[in-house]
Amino acid sequence: MKIIMYGTKPIEKSYVEAWEKKTDNTVKMVADLLNDDTVDMAQGFDGVVTQQTQSLGSSDVYKKLASFGIKQIGLRTAGYDMVNLDAANANGITITRVSIYSPRAIAEMGVTQAMYLNRKIGLFNQRMTDDHDFSWAPDLVSNEIFNLTVGIIGLGHIGGATAQIYKALGAKVIAYDPFYDPEQEAFVDYTDLDTVLRESDIITLHTPLFPSTKNIINADSLKKMKKTAYLINMARGGLVDTQALIKALQDGEIAGAGLDTLADETTYFGKKVSAGQVPEDYKTLAAMPNVVVTPHVAFFTKTSVRNMVEIALNDTVTIVNGGKTRNAVR
Ligand code: NAD
Repeated sequence: MKIIMYGTKPIEKSYVEAWEKKTDNTVKMVADLLNDDTVDMAQGFDGVVTQQTQSLGSSDVYKKLASFGIKQIGLRTAGYDMVNLDAANANGITITRVSIYSPRAIAEMGVTQAMYLNRKIGLFNQRMTDDHDFSWAPDLVSNEIFNLTVGIIGLGHIGGATAQIYKALGAKVIAYDPFYDPEQEAFVDYTDLDTVLRESDIITLHTPLFPSTKNIINADSLKKMKKTAYLINMARGGLVDTQALIKALQDGEIAGAGLDTLADETTYFGKKVSAGQVPEDYKTLAAMPNVVVTPHVAFFTKTSVRNMVEIALNDTVTIVNGGKTRNAVR
């Protein structure tokens, strides 16, 4: 079987080559993303795989793939908001995602950023660098995690892994998720969104981006949070109203933010750009000592990359051969 893999990164090469050897299939790796300009590259292949946060393009992309005999698009990501599911369904294209590649990778990054903020490392750094001030300033004293309440919004695979880590550290963990999962009960107390916003010292977002979750963190919800609270967003930038967040940070409505995603990240995250292409909202946030921004790399561990490559390729073979996979997006 011949598969074209869009949006590839050099780090994936060794995993792809190992998979080709193991399964006797061939993979053409291209750095381009799948969109209206690149869809023709898929002609002559049996399967398509991609990893991208940008839209896959207009409905013509799905129409063209179907005309090339392509039955599926295998996403090497958990999120699938870049896909037009209606267009995929209309053209008989099954979308698969790697729903679980290493929830721990993302959970660990969220906890890492929260720890950095909670211990006020950015604020210490600023004082040491700008003012040669190495003093133990009383306003920079921290709380230990076991004294804190952590609120999780979206208690799925990643939210659940996050809950387990905080629970192991001794925090009180509460969570809001419209769907109850009895397996999480050992790690969290379920509650409503308002209680999570009002009672948490660390609020960590792990819900997908849906119309119902867009700007779930907005000017109103930021006002409900404690002035000492930290907001962690490891999920999707669109969950947070960036301008409202900047204002809340400037006005001291919350204590800080850890962000692996930003609403308009697709023009610059994941690539090297010129100084002029760096948006103002990023510059404003990154300049704040109580904010940490990473370029959508919470997933970026060796375990994740290997699993994303292997699971997406295995599902591609399954669908092309007429089989079923639990990773199909419905
Ligand atoms: P998941 O499907 O296992 O869990 C999502 C949870 O959100 C579910 O339990 C669902 O019930 C809940 N949810 C849905 N609507 C909600 C709402 N309105 N309020 C609160 N909860 C709601 O997904 P997952 O694997 O845990 O991934 C979560 C998200 O993390 C992905 O959709 C993706 O956007 C993001 N993600 C980010 C990275 C990264 O590198 N930063 C990597 C992977 C995934």
